[in-house]
Amino acid sequence: MVSINKTSDKTRVAQVAGGGFSGLTAAIALRQNGWDVVLHEKSPELRAFGAGIYLWHNGLRVLEGIGCLNEVLEDSFTPPAYETWMHNKTVSKETFNGLPWRIMTRAHLHDALANRAREVGVEIRTNSEAVGAEASGKLKLASGEVVEGDLIVGADGVGSKVRDSLGFEQERWGATDGIIRLIVPRHKDKLGHGEWDNTIDMWNHWPRVQRILYSPCNDRELYLGLMAPSADPRGSKVPLDLEVWMEMFPFLEPCLVDAAKIEDARYDTYQTTKLNTWSRGKVALVGDAGHAMCPALAQGAGCGMVNAFTLAQDVEKGASLEEALADWEKSVRPITDLTQKLSADHAANRTMSYGNGFTPEALTAARFDPINRVYSWPQ
Ligand SMILES: Cc1cc2nc3c(=O)[nH]c(=O)nc-3n(C[C@H](O)[C@H](O)[C@H](O)COP(=O)(O)OP(=O)(O)OC[C@H]3O[C@@H](n4cnc5c(N)ncnc54)[C@H](O)[C@@H]3O)c2cc1C
Repeated sequence: MVSINKTSDKTRVAQVAGGGFSGLTAAIALRQNGWDVVLHEKSPELRAFGAGIYLWHNGLRVLEGIGCLNEVLEDSFTPPAYETWMHNKTVSKETFNGLPWRIMTRAHLHDALANRAREVGVEIRTNSEAVGAEASGKLKLASGEVVEGDLIVGADGVGSKVRDSLGFEQERWGATDGIIRLIVPRHKDKLGHGEWDNTIDMWNHWPRVQRILYSPCNDRELYLGLMAPSADPRGSKVPLDLEVWMEMFPFLEPCLVDAAKIEDARYDTYQTTKLNTWSRGKVALVGDAGHAMCPALAQGAGCGMVNAFTLAQDVEKGASLEEALADWEKSVRPITDLTQKLSADHAANRTMSYGNGFTPEALTAARFDPINRVYSWPQ
């Protein structure tokens, strides 16, 4: 674990809105730097929505920096290769030149972060919904209470009320495809011949656009991402239309049969959000609140966690908080901007389907080490 020294005796207070991956990371990192941190989560409990998640070197280094890497590694998995298929034929097998990457369930990652937040003494308030903020350092809650902080962190996701209350200039655009994400038992022994420990990104452009991202999370759990255009009523149907998925991916039958039994499955679309700036006065935005991106490069949470972690380090610097926030944005934003752009292009053109999509440029964010602020992995 990286030890971080307190630079001032005065205890500063941070109010963090949102208990997702970005908010928890910001809260832990600030707390480690000596801040008093209150985290406001609108839901009745801290929990992750979704199914599985990929983290790369950048996100794993954040976990190391905030002291929960070992817990995450205990029940997560690095496949031998990232395989891409087109119409059931392998078009590429990528191993990223040894760059660390890992797949896990979202619940596992979230639990590790929530445990660590409690351990370091973050005050967690559930049923505490933020409805707005003021640049002077105030967070307004749905209860009518207004809490003050030396720093307010808006980590309240893509629909951020903190962001919207401050009138940031923003561009937002959606993708044409969406995804059903589920965790099912691995069923590795029932799948027949194949390298079923690999990630397999199975694309079909014809007769319909349908893709399954097959991602083993550990020995027991498999993350399935079933992608189809939102204009396709059968591909986007939940619970799963078993027939339409079996037609294209018959070899996954045991997994798909279990997937179709999941009643509360969701079909989610995704969007890109781009702001003119990530901070206003004492308020900083991290994660999807500030820079939601398409999942093509599996970097939304990775970038969110990096930005939350570096925010906590950079507020220790600068003549004023406002100056420190501007310097923080200048330091890490180019990586997020590039990753957002590449992810949106891939989503719009479905170019990951051609294989070998993880070029050195596409792996820019993944190769970044947020502790030493260098690209610590060779291209
Ligand atoms: C299909 C898909 C696949 C993806 N795969 C990956 C991947 O493999 N790797 C990766 O790095 N990223 C991935 N991402 C992106 C990643 O899921 C997000 O970037 C990440 O979850 C954002 O985390 P966050 O904490 O910023 O926001 P959120 O996860 O949205 O968390 C926001 C939190 O704030 C709470 N909240 C909301 N409003 C309020 C409020 N007003 N007051 C208080 N609390 C509030 C919510 O309940 C929630 O707990 C994927 C995204 C999609 C859509």
